[in-house]
Order: sequence, then structure tokens, then C-alpha cells
Amino acid sequence: MEGKTGMTIGDNMREIQSCIAAAEARAGRTPGTVTLICVTKTRTVTEMSEAVRSGAFDLGENRVQEMMEKYGAMQDVAGTGEKKYNIKWHLIGQLQRNKVKYIIGKTSLIHSVDSFRLAEEIERCAKEAKVNVGVLIQVNPAGEMQKAGVSLPEAELLTREIDGGLTRVRVQGLMSVVPIAEDPEEVRGYFREVKQTFDKMAAAYPAFRHLSMGMTHDYEVAIEEGATMVRVGAGIFGPRAQRE
Ligand SMILES: *Cc1c(COP(=O)(O)O)cnc(C)c1O
Repeated sequence: MEGKTGMTIGDNMREIQSCIAAAEARAGRTPGTVTLICVTKTRTVTEMSEAVRSGAFDLGENRVQEMMEKYGAMQDVAGTGEKKYNIKWHLIGQLQRNKVKYIIGKTSLIHSVDSFRLAEEIERCAKEAKVNVGVLIQVNPAGEMQKAGVSLPEAELLTREIDGGLTRVRVQGLMSVVPIAEDPEEVRGYFREVKQTFDKMAAAYPAFRHLSMGMTHDYEVAIEEGATMVRVGAGIFGPRAQRE
């Protein structure tokens, strides 16, 4: 479902919320336990505000500069009117080390940690700001060359290294990107593999609680396979102009 014509952002939000609830039910999951992250890259503050008013309180951006530009404006939206919204920001795109300093204290979760050097820079900035930072390890279970992320065995090693060596970076789970498939059934196996590793790691790391997987075309399958967070953009706002 790609933001059908004639549907408002609010309509799309409601439809996706009900599809999430149905997928939770099919999978025997507790209702309301999957977090919808509304992916707002390329969208305007006006569009984002409409989504927030329809219940999108977790926003995902993939570029630091774009996130920072919108952050201030959205804090205003969140704090005005009769209702106050508690907006949480998720950084879901590749993070360069020289940009980490801008987002510490502003993001509730960084989904895209894939190296110890990046984690070390997050640690350095977190110490300076006297905060702890929740992160996910980004995995690329299909080993696609053009995509960021580590293999599942590498995710286990990296988590061990961060857990043992750093104090303010808290690994709270895994984030996965899988191939774009015509039929989401084709990627079910990847979601299942990621979930198996997640469960194994959750048994060893009590802080493990988030499994971020699934986008517009495959989030229902991802929920059936154990996602606790889904990242949906086009399904809420309609198709995007091509850009990574
Ligand atoms: C853009 C993006 C999404 C959302 O993709 P849609 O197809 O618009 O739902 C999810 N995750 C990441 C990492 C993204 O960059």
C-alpha cells in the first residue's frame, strides 16, 4: 500500500495502525507493542505536523542535517495548541562520525551503528553531554554490497565489543535492511534469521528490547516475524521523489 490517491495523511495513518494491529493479532503478539516509526525524510514540516496530529509520535530521519533543520520547527508544533505531543526522533540512516555531536541528546535511538569507531565517537559525545545513548546495530542479512550494516555474526561481535568497552552507549537491539522484493514473502526468511539472532542476543544482553525491521512494502511480514519497530514512509505520505 503506497499512500493511495484521495487518502489524507491521517487516513493513511489510521489504515497502517489497523494493519499493524491485525499483524500483531495474526502473530499472537500483545496488541499495541509494535512501535510505528513515521519516516519523514524529504517531507515538509506541514506534512509531518499532520502525521503527528494523527498519532505519529516517533519520527525517523536518515540525514543529520535534514533532521536538525526540522527538529526545532517540530518542537514548536509539539509544544503549541491544546495538545502537547511527546515526539521522539530516530536516526535511521548512515551516520558519519563528524556529525554525531549534533544529534546527541536529541535522538531517542540511533538505529544505524555498524562499527566500533562510530560507537566510540557516540561514547565521546555522550560523556561530554552527560547522557546515555541507546543504539541499535544495523544488520544487512542479505549481504547487499550497496547497503550499510554488518552480518549477523559481526553484530554479535560488535555488541560484545561495545558492551565490554563503552559505558554510555547502550546496545538495545538490532535494525535490519533487507532487499526490496516485489513480494514481501521473499524476504520473510531474512526477517526470521534476524529474529533468531536477536533472541539469542537478548538472552545474553538484558538491554536488548528493540527489533527494528520492515518498511512500507514489508512491515506486516516483519511484524509476523517479530519486529518491535517498523519504519514506514511512503505508506503514510505517498511516494517519494527518488533519493536514498
Ligand atoms: C526511507 C527508509 C525507510 C522507509 O521506507 P518506505 O519505503 O518509504 O516506507 C525505512 N528505513 C530506512 C532505513 C529508510 O531509509
